[in-house]
Order: sequence, then C-alpha cells, then structure tokens
Amino acid sequence: INKNEQNINDLLSTIWEDSQTYISKGQVADYIPELSKANKNLVGIAIIDNKGKLYTKGDTQNKFTIQSISKVIALMIAVKERGESYIFERMGYYGTNAPFNSFEEIQTQNKPLNPMMNAGAIVTTSLILGKKEEAYLKILKMIRFITKNESITINQAVYLSEKKTGNRNRGMFYLLKNYGLFEAEDEESLNNYFRQCSIEVNAEDLAKIGYFFAHDCTRFDGDKTYYNPEMSKLINSIMLTCGMYDYSGEYSRKVGFPSKSGVGGGIMGVVPGKYGIGTFNPSLDNHGNSVPGVYIMESLSKKLDLSIF
Ligand code: GLN
Repeated sequence: INKNEQNINDLLSTIWEDSQTYISKGQVADYIPELSKANKNLVGIAIIDNKGKLYTKGDTQNKFTIQSISKVIALMIAVKERGESYIFERMGYYGTNAPFNSFEEIQTQNKPLNPMMNAGAIVTTSLILGKKEEAYLKILKMIRFITKNESITINQAVYLSEKKTGNRNRGMFYLLKNYGLFEAEDEESLNNYFRQCSIEVNAEDLAKIGYFFAHDCTRFDGDKTYYNPEMSKLINSIMLTCGMYDYSGEYSRKVGFPSKSGVGGGIMGVVPGKYGIGTFNPSLDNHGNSVPGVYIMESLSKKLDLSIF
C-alpha cells in the first residue's frame, strides 16, 4: 500500500467518523412504509479512483433501494433509444425550487421540469421501448452491467409498498398521460418506475455507477461497451442542475460535482475524469437527501479539491 492510498484510507476514516454526528439531524423516509425499516446508524463510503481502484469505509456492503438514482440510468436508456430531442420535447432542462414529488409545474409548462423529479422520471421510463416489464428489465440489466454485479435485484417488499401507497405518483402518471407525453395502455410503465426505484444496491455499486459517468461511460474495469462521451456530458449536466432536487444549487456551490440522491439513503457522485463516489446513510433532510451523505460529499470535495469549478 503506497502513501497516496494510505492518505485516502485515512481521509475516509476521518470523514466517516465525523459524519456520525450528522445522523441525528435527519430522518428515515416513511412515506413509503417499507423504507421506514432502514437502520439509521449505517454509514458507508466507497470511492473509485481513475485507475479503477476501490476504497471503502464503513457499511459499504449493506443494501438499500436505489430509488431516484435509477432515474439517471433510465434517462440514459431512453435517450439512447429515442434520441435526446425526442425526450426533451417531453420534459425540460430546468432546475427547480420545488421538492422531488412536486407536479404543479406540469400545468404551466405542459411537461415536467426535468428528468430527475418524479414527474420527469415517470415520463422517461414510459418512453423506454418495450412491453410490460421490459423497460424495468433494461434498467436492471444496465445497472448490473455497470456495477459488474449480477446479484443486484429488486426488493419486492419495497416495490409492493411503493405500488400500494404511491398515489401521488399515480396521479402524476395520469396527468402526464393526459398531456399526451407518452402512450401507455395501462399502469405497467408506472409500475416499472416503482420497480426501478426498488432495485437494491450498496455504496460500492453506486461508486461504480459514478465511475461510469466520470469516464465517458467506461466501466470501472475498462470495458467500453457503452463508451459515449456525449451521453455522460448530458447525464452529468442534468445531475448538476437537478440531481439533488431543490438543494442542487447550494450543493453545486458547496460540493461542485454532479451527484444524484435517492430516498433510500444513497448518493452517487461523479468527479469527471477522476472519481466515482457512493455514500449510504438513510437519515434524510427535508429535500430527501442523506444528511451524512451530503456532509461526506462536501468533505471529500474540500479535502481532495474535487469541485469542477
Ligand atoms: N420512489 C421514490 C418516489 O417515487 C423516489 C423518490 C426519491 O428517491 N427522491 O417517491
């Protein structure tokens, strides 16, 4: 183990320890009942450098549902299949000062603000080609590919819990359908959105997804099957403007690299040309971002000088 590696390991240990004090400042999501069972005290940090070397600290093997982080994978697939202009005629490139589950803006724009809020993501997934479960299966397959982790699968209890209680998302689905933003015979594409959110990953998997978008869609082991610099530019710019919802502006100032959070407690960070970062802790602030997770990203950004600006 060389000096540089030791430095990163020491840094992760320090940040990990300091992050514990932030656990009490947030709350585990309970609007999806099954999510309320999460253990608030787990904290995991995983980081992969530009050579594909993985560093971990804490609870990086514990699984949690990917939730909104799946939205970037769905966007990538939808854009690949339909083209960017087709997708963005049906949603905006806007940032937002509204929460992730807000839908009031649909009525003024006639389309969702962006693909990272629920409304935009429901449209994105509905635009992926295929019948029944196919769109979800494509998302699952892509996540397994990027992480090289074939054991990744759905948390069925979370899926059923979301499906049962997701009436706000269901309402949005019909409103969006009313605007003619996608064609759907039934609720299967909404179910696919619920399914993609219920895919279980760990912090290491998130670091690998971060690496992929940090390196022009090259996998952490160098596999270039999906190599596409234009795609990672698109995904990263969208994450920077709205990946952390209504906190994105402040996050851009304080952390300064594209990231995506989920209400399962994960944050996936992309430092272009350099690191992929995954953090996990389910104690959320009122934006739906993990409080220790945001602290960890901010600390890493400061200590390793990771802001892109
Ligand atoms: N499945 C969640 C929902 O639709 C995803 C939200 C999130 O992670 N911010 O409400």
